[in-house]
Amino acid sequence: MSSSSPTQASLIQLGNSYRGAGKRESSSSDAKQQQHRHAIKQVAAGEQRLDGWSVAIDVVASGLCGTDLHYLGQDVGLGHEGVGVVSALGSALLQDDGAEAKKLGLKVGSRVGWGYVQGACLACLPCVQGVDTMCRTRKLYGVTNKHQGSIGDAYVVDARFVHLIPDALPLVYAAPLQCAGATVFGAIHACADLKPWHRVGVLAIGGLGHLAIQYLSKMGCHVVVFSTSDSKREEAFKLGASEFVATGRDNKELKSAIKSADWKGSVDYLFVASSVQPDWDTYLHPRILSSRATVIPLSVSADALHIKGYQQLISKEIRIQGSMVASRPVHRIMLDFSARTRSWPWIELLPMSPEGVEEAVNRLDAGQVRYRFVLQHPTHKDPLFPDHVPGPALQNKI
Ligand SMILES: [Zn+2]
Ligand SMILES: [Zn+2]
Repeated sequence: MSSSSPTQASLIQLGNSYRGAGKRESSSSDAKQQQHRHAIKQVAAGEQRLDGWSVAIDVVASGLCGTDLHYLGQDVGLGHEGVGVVSALGSALLQDDGAEAKKLGLKVGSRVGWGYVQGACLACLPCVQGVDTMCRTRKLYGVTNKHQGSIGDAYVVDARFVHLIPDALPLVYAAPLQCAGATVFGAIHACADLKPWHRVGVLAIGGLGHLAIQYLSKMGCHVVVFSTSDSKREEAFKLGASEFVATGRDNKELKSAIKSADWKGSVDYLFVASSVQPDWDTYLHPRILSSRATVIPLSVSADALHIKGYQQLISKEIRIQGSMVASRPVHRIMLDFSARTRSWPWIELLPMSPEGVEEAVNRLDAGQVRYRFVLQHPTHKDPLFPDHVPGPALQNKI
């Protein structure tokens, strides 16, 4: 939907995007499903100026992240796990025979992705330290350029905040890596003392957890997965888990398991990838968390942090380490590592249409996805892997 003449383009027509349209009356007789039925509308996203450093992208696919659900009630284009093909370059990139574009490795036709952080000042201390995610004037999805969403036809973004996708990585798999992959890998990367011989816990197997298991196991760690029920046991081992612990409702099974002589031991790191905060005090137990362990909360939650066993944090020297999403250098490392080790998300492809987006939104909200939805554009194709068609769960097979 972008201009056919990259050198002359100044306004890019964005085509369609998708937004929340309130609650829909469900035809289901199931009262629970009726509560969860969000309506989605397809709207014209309008146009976006192709500023000097910006790049226009024809969207090929987009993941759907839990964070998108928070924007359903607002006038925000859905999607911040975008992948596509560069269709036009801004004037600063084109000057001096395209010198700046060449430095970034970008040209019309490049396969790229972009995620939650879409701009920063590039001059403040966090920026020059390579941690642009902590820039005080960073530009985040949902706050800046709200009319655009990666679930749409085209997107315009600062070229310095897009990421080249390795040739070995199909775009439909690269899509969820732009936020879920960057979130998990950024958190792992921030644990500078994490070594292959550590026992590492992953709490919950979902969009984030299933990537954390893959990354950590491929780094050589002993991965202990905590999941509510046994239903994902087999999949956890396929993803690379070394141990699986079914915690049960209200952690009843976990609490009895740690009393048993068979309990295999505590973890040195705990990545908390559940959709809501866990009962922290259960996990502070010395049979679960080693002394000097690090806990990394990844759940997006507006609730307060409640820990009754505060004194244990002190006496066991437990560290709680916040983490948002990978900075640009770490994002690049993540893409390279994902491609090289085939740490790909397990995805279910759906068509990028009002019906497809609505199904993805409602099933994600109901927790009915293993493990990431990817919306596939009806006509834009991945130039290297053009033959993917919407279908059932692919489970890492191409
Ligand atoms: Zn800055
Ligand atoms: Zn996200």
